[in-house]
Amino acid sequence: MIRVAAYLPDGRTGPGRLAEVELEATVTGPAELTLPQLTVRDERGGELLDPTGPLVHDPAAGGGPLAGAAADQQARAFGITNTAYHIHRALHFATRLLGQPLPHLLVRIGVHNAPKRWGGGHYRLPGAATPAEPYDIAPTGEIHLGGGRTFLHGPAGAAGVAGPDGAARYFHVPAHNASIIYHEVGHHICRHTADFRVNRSRPQGEQHNGKVALDEGTADFLAAVLLGTPDIYGWHRGHIPQWDPRRRRLDPRWTMAYLRPGNGGQAHANGTIWASALWSARERVLTEGGNPDEFDRMLLNGLTRLGACEGPVAEERDRRNRFSELLRELASADATLAPTLLAAMADHGILPEGRNADLRERMQAGTDTAVVT
Ligand SMILES: [Zn+2]
Repeated sequence: MIRVAAYLPDGRTGPGRLAEVELEATVTGPAELTLPQLTVRDERGGELLDPTGPLVHDPAAGGGPLAGAAADQQARAFGITNTAYHIHRALHFATRLLGQPLPHLLVRIGVHNAPKRWGGGHYRLPGAATPAEPYDIAPTGEIHLGGGRTFLHGPAGAAGVAGPDGAARYFHVPAHNASIIYHEVGHHICRHTADFRVNRSRPQGEQHNGKVALDEGTADFLAAVLLGTPDIYGWHRGHIPQWDPRRRRLDPRWTMAYLRPGNGGQAHANGTIWASALWSARERVLTEGGNPDEFDRMLLNGLTRLGACEGPVAEERDRRNRFSELLRELASADATLAPTLLAAMADHGILPEGRNADLRERMQAGTDTAVVT
């Protein structure tokens, strides 16, 4: 066990509450931590973690281009431990509910930073990808986090360093942002359960890296569960109105009427419909006195059921794309919760049969398109 620093989710807008936590981890390199299911490495190198010294580092407001070299090193070291804490927590959650561990996950921090800085995250399997990968991607999957690109500005007292006017400034590094970390672990969970792209039947080096709406939505929902808030991206997208799909808030009632046809670039917005319906269903289960673990277990078992079918690949790919199919698998995974689940999903226009376009048409014909309820 080592003692490290991490931000703990506190349900408020911001990075969370800074705390010291115990982690079952070993320092395995100058910028690398290894845990039982997980390796986290800052690919930019440098002597960030001293195995003989204290491993509790200061977030240093994200470090970045305006901070001194020492502050940037602190921020990067903190990014490693913070990432390890959150990924370990998410994997532990999944392992507990699935009853078995997921395959090993490698996390690379500070990648894809040239020619332009990168402030995002993605999940990668070995296969074609944009941007192209300079790494040999691990067949069990990798998360990549950029080194940060922009500053977040908050009111006086918000996380960050105070500028001359008192306002707070934080260099937004994904390794400091639990919502981005949890979303990407969500893709790892999806890959090894629902396997939406039927990658298990593709050659190991030719995995499909594209994400369908159900993959994105499930990843956002898992982030909301782990953060304890439906406003998952409130910290770095707080400037985007709540009703704007790019905010990806789960508590406006997004319905199938808002589904944008085709797969091109709409997966996140379309996924918000699925995430928002899951959030409504979970809230309803809780209101009725149900157990959140049982709901989350139903989801993970439903994902596993969706991915367990051995039909012809093209048919399976099509089937695993459908909101109705995944809903049916969830309902079959827990007969007790199924009535509440189906009722809540129906309010979002998600029914247990029909293609996605059929559900959209039915919802558009049957309702006006008021989204916020
Ligand atoms: Zn994603």
